[in-house]
Amino acid sequence: MSDGPKRGRGQFDGWSKSSLKSLLEGCSWQWALTRLAGMAGGSTPHSAAGTGMHAAIEWHEQRRIDGEPLPEFWELLWEASSEAYRDGENIPADFAAIHGGADVAAQWACGLTTTWYDSKVREQLLTYTPLAVEPHLETERTPGPNTLRGYLDWVGRDADGVLTVIDYKSASGLQRWNNPDHHLLEAAVYLYLVSTSDYWSGDEPIRMEWHVVSRKDDAKILEGQTFSPDIIGFVHDRLAEAQAVVDGNKFIPNPSWGLCSQRWCTFYHGCQTTGILGPDHIDFDLASRRAASLPAPDAGATGIP
Ligand code: SF4
Repeated sequence: MSDGPKRGRGQFDGWSKSSLKSLLEGCSWQWALTRLAGMAGGSTPHSAAGTGMHAAIEWHEQRRIDGEPLPEFWELLWEASSEAYRDGENIPADFAAIHGGADVAAQWACGLTTTWYDSKVREQLLTYTPLAVEPHLETERTPGPNTLRGYLDWVGRDADGVLTVIDYKSASGLQRWNNPDHHLLEAAVYLYLVSTSDYWSGDEPIRMEWHVVSRKDDAKILEGQTFSPDIIGFVHDRLAEAQAVVDGNKFIPNPSWGLCSQRWCTFYHGCQTTGILGPDHIDFDLASRRAASLPAPDAGATGIP
């Protein structure tokens, strides 16, 4: 699942699963640099490889929806590598020189797609019936001023006919994907969005699964939560919490976050090494109102001199 259309600086106007997760469970400072100040963090080789894998699976599943023959394996690799390469061109040049660029992303995307193609995960998916891939859902049934929206990877029915939402994940390893409670926020947002859509009849269960693919380990399915009225209250509470951070300009760097490293955050050098992208140099209270005081969105995003 990804965010909606990209918006410009200071034009944040809606919540998505990734924005809630990044703000509440990741680093609110990174969130503000990207979404409020509109600075382009760019891709990383891992995220671009994931984009490529998503594109290949999406194509595979769209063929099933259209009743057409499945793509050949080499066609899926072509799709994965081209999309990863395209996204990899958004990796900032200075970051790519250290951590790998579009060519590395394309290679990893082929590895992920190969693992998925040969896995039991794909075998199981073929017993399910897809209804839509990448549907964009948006609801105004939120308590605050902003809507909740997002693209879901896959919505359909499992082998027993139960309404199911699937999120594909590319991962370095599978060890983080053992306990669905560790990913409750994203499951809740997916289930909430489906419960506001036309896919749901209103009186049937909705379940979710993560299909996790690792270049190194294999692929697995992690069964997630099912929809219940508690999910609505949980999502509303998290939306209120996130809105309070934004309204109060309470953005704080989170260097203890597991993804705060040179490898995962393209702002790392500017934020943690030179400090040019840190709180001593950027006042988000000002940034949200007077964006001209910030660097241009596409220039010097990483802060690497
Ligand atoms: S370097 Fe760390 S603290 Fe700074 S924005 Fe990135 S994740 Fe947040």
